[in-house]
Amino acid sequence: MDLSFTPEEQKFREEVRAWVKENLPQEISHKVHNALELTRDDLQGWARILGKKGWLGYGWPKEFGGPGWTAIQRHLFEEETALAGAPRIIPFGPVMVAPVIMAFGNAEQQKRFLPGIASGEVWWSQGYSEPGSGSDLASVKTKAERKGDKYIVNGQKTWTTLGQYGDWMFNLVRTSNEGKPQTGISFLLLDMKSPGVTVRPIKLLDGGHEVNEVFFDNVEVPAENLIGEENKGWTYAKHLLSHERTNIADVNRAKRELERLKRIAKSEGLYDDQRFRDEIARLEVDIVALEMMVLRVLSAATSGKNSLDVAGLLKIRGSEIQQRYSELMMLAGGPYSLPLIREAMEAGWQGNFPGGNPALAPLTSTFFNMRKTTIYGGSNEVQRNIVAQTVLG
Ligand SMILES: Cc1cc2nc3c(=O)[nH]c(=O)nc-3n(C[C@H](O)[C@H](O)[C@H](O)COP(=O)(O)OP(=O)(O)OC[C@H]3O[C@@H](n4cnc5c(N)ncnc54)[C@H](O)[C@@H]3O)c2cc1C
Repeated sequence: MDLSFTPEEQKFREEVRAWVKENLPQEISHKVHNALELTRDDLQGWARILGKKGWLGYGWPKEFGGPGWTAIQRHLFEEETALAGAPRIIPFGPVMVAPVIMAFGNAEQQKRFLPGIASGEVWWSQGYSEPGSGSDLASVKTKAERKGDKYIVNGQKTWTTLGQYGDWMFNLVRTSNEGKPQTGISFLLLDMKSPGVTVRPIKLLDGGHEVNEVFFDNVEVPAENLIGEENKGWTYAKHLLSHERTNIADVNRAKRELERLKRIAKSEGLYDDQRFRDEIARLEVDIVALEMMVLRVLSAATSGKNSLDVAGLLKIRGSEIQQRYSELMMLAGGPYSLPLIREAMEAGWQGNFPGGNPALAPLTSTFFNMRKTTIYGGSNEVQRNIVAQTVLG
């Protein structure tokens, strides 16, 4: 197993770095480096810049308009963009539904949907979870009834991340109650502007509007929006989830946030405390270990060996690390971590005021926000069950 990068890979890294330096708007990277709230325009603006370069679908093969990069190149791209302070690519379109459309959609669907995803023009949302169907996803109840050349959809999805911006939504819907619950699920693409779709915000602990409930009341969906075969949606859903969980590990963001933690600890004095430095060192070791795990997977993929199915492991470790750095930042910030009045944060109460410490902005918000990471994308308890079955046997 060779974990070092070749001269070509180093050259590729430098090219990406130079391009990002030139093209990432400074006001966006400032927000990312200081954990300030990103607007829709920030997120979509960056997506469009990447789209123009042909890099939004950075994991896509050439035949579908992607750059056709190797796993190592994709890793280097993720690392360079994260360290430069680029926002995370909103994964629902390019990372989640696109691979499903490529693998299981027909040529018409590929032609119709992939260009809007690749350019960043069309915003996708994920409609998997429902009240009562999260970990037990196979129990979804949202019903899609076939009537002629349409499906009539009724039901409710929940926790729909950034669904307030959604143009399109990919959904798991129930098309049959026969047999095992898994065998009656279909994968349906739905235009969120259709009559009968209502999106309602769920306010989170950090005060932000990041997730939503989405209601379907007799929504008409053309049957041509069904991916693959009716009642085979569970197979496609699982294909998508492995992409989601690998993406959630986000080791590169952890590396960037580790530096922010050190900045805060140094400016607020806790860096002088040996015990606190030990905590930082322990976190750093865990981040490096996670990175090694990612590189091992990439190395196995490059040398054609079968890698372990470790998406679940990466998700568990990555999410724990995200929570830990946000906890240590709170400790390092001390009393400055306390305010949790969103308007005050936005007014710069916690860091943007003259003479304030930008590294401290807005710690409480980040801390609360990171509580989600061990739940979303499949809770860590459930991931452990999956790892026990698939990796340990
Ligand atoms: C911020 C956020 C964003 C999200 N975004 C989206 C989105 O965009 N689209 C979408 O479809 N979904 C989204 N989700 C939903 C997410 O996937 C679910 O919350 C998650 O799968 C857990 O389901 P649940 O909330 O119904 O909890 P439950 O399934 O009710 O679980 C409750 C608790 O029981 C534990 N548990 C359940 N079953 C087992 C078991 N078999 N063994 C051991 N422990 C178990 C869980 O670990 C958890 O601690 C999001 C969630 C959050 C918090």
